[in-house]
Amino acid sequence: METLILSGNETSKKIRAEIAGRIKETGIVPSLAVVLVGSDPASAVYVRNKEKACEKTGIRAINHHLPDDTDAATLRNLLMGLDSDPSVDGILLQLPLPAHLDEKDFLPLISAEKDVDGFHPINQGKLLTGEDALFSCTPNGVIQILKHFGVEISGKHAVVLGRSNIVGKPMMSLLLRENATVTVCHSKTADLEKHVATADILIVALGKRGIVKSSWIRPETVVVDVGIHRLDDGSVAGDLEQSELMGRVKALTPVPGGVGPMTITMLLHNTLKAAEKNRQ
Ligand code: NAP
Repeated sequence: METLILSGNETSKKIRAEIAGRIKETGIVPSLAVVLVGSDPASAVYVRNKEKACEKTGIRAINHHLPDDTDAATLRNLLMGLDSDPSVDGILLQLPLPAHLDEKDFLPLISAEKDVDGFHPINQGKLLTGEDALFSCTPNGVIQILKHFGVEISGKHAVVLGRSNIVGKPMMSLLLRENATVTVCHSKTADLEKHVATADILIVALGKRGIVKSSWIRPETVVVDVGIHRLDDGSVAGDLEQSELMGRVKALTPVPGGVGPMTITMLLHNTLKAAEKNRQ
């Protein structure tokens, strides 16, 4: 069986070109404040990639890189200042924060209108009730990949493995919006194998490798692997054993080059959306 590769790189390229085109056409230059606290190397790489992607599409990234020992009051004042500044369209607080700062104290300082990550309870709530909002980037990226490759969602049985607030739960809501029948599984789910075997579309966001066996997945299944793991040999892998699935399932998002690039792309999408609303 030939497996269709659901390339996030290809989908991203198309959407980023559309965003750049829209910025040129409207003359609205969105601005994104990027707040990074500390020197965690992985976070620094993520932030640099986000800033580069902004630059390439015509979004102005305003960098606020704070030292490891930043105190709560300094971060609070910065976020409150950015939130009330009308020239700032979106605010990105890179997580995780250093151990002495609790993200729960700071995320609520970013208002729903500037919450380009789509984490705010108002945005999550609107997603659930079917209203327009800034949607969580990774799951929205998954939907865009499926649409780009013409995968039918309506009427299909989608099984989501993982129920985190940033991936699993918004994934469920977005799939429901697209008229899928959705099953959400988590660490207390009994008989995971049985659920996996019934999926037309399987979204795996466990953050753990080796849980789902390739043999559980039916050949007719469209498989989305959200997981990202850095292996001992330096390579990047998903939650699934991709080499075993290639040639065995209908379609598969690769890792790397699948869901990963879409997360940044949907951040750019949300920043443009926030800017257009902000300038109305
Ligand atoms: P998370 O917050 O750790 O959530 C993991 C979920 O998996 C939880 O709901 C957990 O269930 C469930 N789970 C864990 N072990 C399980 C098991 N043995 N059986 C069934 N369910 C199990 O992770 P996350 O933030 O959603 O991220 C998931 C993965 O996606 C990670 O690898 C992360 O790196 C990746 N990710 C990628 C991108 C991207 O840009 N591609 C973006 C975000 C995340 P409980 O709720 O019961 O604990």
